[in-house]
Amino acid sequence: MLDGPEPVLRVSDLRTVFATRDGEIHAVNGVSFAIAPGEVLGVVGESGSGKSVTMMALMGLLPSPPAQVSGGPVLYRGQDMLTRSGRERRRLRGGEIGFVFQDPMTSLNPVFTVGYQIMEPIRAHLGLGRRAARARAAELLALVGIPDAARRLDDYPHQFSGGMRQRVMIAIALSCDPKLLIADEPTTALDVTIQAQILEIVRELRARLGMGIIWITHDLGLVAGLADRVMVMYAGHVIEHGPVRRIFADPRHPYTRALLATVPRVTGTRARRLPAIEGQPPVLTGPPRACPFAPRCPQAFNRCRVENPGRRYVSEGHDVACWWDFSAGEPYHDP
Ligand code: ADP
Ligand code: MG
Repeated sequence: MLDGPEPVLRVSDLRTVFATRDGEIHAVNGVSFAIAPGEVLGVVGESGSGKSVTMMALMGLLPSPPAQVSGGPVLYRGQDMLTRSGRERRRLRGGEIGFVFQDPMTSLNPVFTVGYQIMEPIRAHLGLGRRAARARAAELLALVGIPDAARRLDDYPHQFSGGMRQRVMIAIALSCDPKLLIADEPTTALDVTIQAQILEIVRELRARLGMGIIWITHDLGLVAGLADRVMVMYAGHVIEHGPVRRIFADPRHPYTRALLATVPRVTGTRARRLPAIEGQPPVLTGPPRACPFAPRCPQAFNRCRVENPGRRYVSEGHDVACWWDFSAGEPYHDP
């Protein structure tokens, strides 16, 4: 899927099913993608499309039961994450792999000071002593825009506002100079100035460390400004993927087109939320056979309702999972 340098992460056919009292929920249905060093992959899709579950699954963070993760491999620098022990995965997480969770309250431990929680991975992964770790922790807190950072190290998570806690999470994720950063809607609770500041830090680290980045967001303006490539998810599928300019200029999936319809300018930096799209979100019970978007799709025809379109080539690095061919203005013909 990627030519050039060895990817930091290469995910193939990842799947996740939740066993619930009401039956199975097929949350991730064969997701594949790769990230090269220094590259930013923007992940978009409406709420419930499987973005968070995909990242949790590949990091081995979903409790089983109820989650059953299958498929793969998920190659992090050539080694399969899915077959590593929990201990090995924990060693990577917080060290080489920084992860900013969608909900910062569930990922900060309420009984430890914020300083301790930043210093712990620094000491474990970078082998710094107490003093040096504390100095670095203060530096990181200041970097993400927390006023009076050195003193605030001794405060507990509940003494920080939601936006501040999110910044603390970002500081922790960046604390060990990760090779891969997975950020799940990391800036949603932040005001635009702080958000811009954090994006600047991330850009700088990406350039300096060659960090690969997965950035999940609802903000299409941010994707246009930060990402190299975009992956659009729907019902646990990657329905379109490609270079950011190609996707914004020439979207090929009706869902992507609907998302972008309300974004007037490609390079606009104004924050824009994903627009609401008419119709019901997909039902994830039972393995998907048809195209999951068919019930809401203005382009849908018979084939869409019975057969799932796999991802097909559009142009260099750009693929789409759709039976409609916008360039021909007619159903896609298998070669
Ligand atoms: P997104 O991050 O794109 O908003 P998620 O990845 O959080 O979406 O969720 C994808 C789907 O998986 C949703 O339908 C959600 O309800 C379901 N899901 C997530 N966690 C669980 C769970 N623990 N048990 C059952 N279903 C779950
Ligand atoms: Mg999510």
